[in-house]
Amino acid sequence: MKEYNYCPICAIPLQMGMVEGRKRKYCPKCNFVDYKNPLPVALAVAVKDKKVLLIKRGVPPVKGMWASPSGFIEIGETPEEGCLRELEEETGVSGEIVKLIGVLRIEDKEIYGDMLIIAYLVNVKDGELTPGDEVEDARFFDIADLPEYYLNIFKDVIEEIQNEEV
Ligand SMILES: [Zn+2]
Repeated sequence: MKEYNYCPICAIPLQMGMVEGRKRKYCPKCNFVDYKNPLPVALAVAVKDKKVLLIKRGVPPVKGMWASPSGFIEIGETPEEGCLRELEEETGVSGEIVKLIGVLRIEDKEIYGDMLIIAYLVNVKDGELTPGDEVEDARFFDIADLPEYYLNIFKDVIEEIQNEEV
């Protein structure tokens, strides 16, 4: 993960010290503290007719992997709004939140460090599948054809989709 060496406000070198019980970098001039917090990401397990909509990621992290539509929640946005916006940007379809699946921690060693993934089950409503700028492909998978790593992460909700009228 990338580190600040200079204060992003005053551009002077940061110092290391104890701040609120942890070693952190801080600015001796303006009191900026380089807190390390997980970045909040909204993710859509998007489903239609028991098929799961995945995107082939076109940007790091995990470029080239099939994954659920997801992205960073913007300032002023609720997690639900961020989830549906990312779904639409990455796949071209709109959706409706069914429920919160859960909140999980994923560590991205490539760029972003810790991420807090807020995952929703989403019903796909309207629109034509049109992969967005940051994705290589978007398509619906039968549950039997889902990649194994994906099944491992969302095992419980996939079972639920299989068994219930979701
Ligand atoms: Zn400063």
